[in-house]
Amino acid sequence: MLDLEPYRHCELCPRRCGVDRVAGQHGFCGEGAELRIASIGAHFGEEPPFVGQSGSGTVFLTGCSCGCFFCQNYQLSAEHMGETLSVAEAVQRIRLLADTGISNLNLVTPDHFWPHLREILRQLRDAGCDLPVIWNSSGYSRVEMLREQAKEIDIFLPDFKYALPELARLCMGREDYPAVAREGIRELVDCKGFLRPFDETGELAASRGVLVRHLVLPGEVENSLAVLDQLYEDHGPMLPISVMRQFRPMPECLQRNRFTRLVTDEEYNRVVNHVRELGFTRVFIQPDCGDENFVPDFRHAGEPFKGNAKRKV
Ligand code: SF4
Repeated sequence: MLDLEPYRHCELCPRRCGVDRVAGQHGFCGEGAELRIASIGAHFGEEPPFVGQSGSGTVFLTGCSCGCFFCQNYQLSAEHMGETLSVAEAVQRIRLLADTGISNLNLVTPDHFWPHLREILRQLRDAGCDLPVIWNSSGYSRVEMLREQAKEIDIFLPDFKYALPELARLCMGREDYPAVAREGIRELVDCKGFLRPFDETGELAASRGVLVRHLVLPGEVENSLAVLDQLYEDHGPMLPISVMRQFRPMPECLQRNRFTRLVTDEEYNRVVNHVRELGFTRVFIQPDCGDENFVPDFRHAGEPFKGNAKRKV
């Protein structure tokens, strides 16, 4: 049964707005107590262990409790694109997707809809769906919530966006991101261990554990180096990581005149060199700025990624 109680004085994320979402109030994430989803579909733009032959079954939730101004999914976090679905409707659509042979169920930016997602997962399990479930999050999560979620979720893909508090304040208005994300990742590794199996080729699908993602930002190499140092200090070189380079300037970057370009080869190489110096071995890197076809446009909710359409043909 769907339990709306956590929405009544919402403290689902570290912002702890305390608003009554059931009564129609909205906190920072901008979402009420109705489930809103921007897209449900097979996605081929994730790292190989999550994609397999038929894609990762992504569910893109509307809204975000992190709210970085450069968000690559700003149509969801800032413009709140998406449609309202009941739990039953979401379960039905996910079951149809599962029938296509997807490798996993991948919940993207999910924290602020945890009560709905917990009920959806329960109903999917009751219906016999045993796909691994991925929690694909910003890294800005309360550790108490992560402990609850770790009981239901198989794979965690937290971002570690900022190690520098002042950069976190600039981008999302909160200096506590580095400490919150670091504590959360430690908790997740304690609960679930490192991602396994770890197969760079993707032949073996990942079924459990933690992989940490970091998006390199233009002009912010020092932040990336500090992220790597902190991850190494906490977990050593066996932690699976993904060092992403697909940043693209979004409309608010141009308005703020900040992060208005791509990451250069020199910047990215400095970060990758540091990965090597520290001895990380389970690493996904992106030698170029990524495939334009995997830049989403959620106005096309049926298929926001052109690259997926090509893979499905
Ligand atoms: S989930 Fe949304 S309303 Fe709840 S505390 Fe976080 S930002 Fe505020």
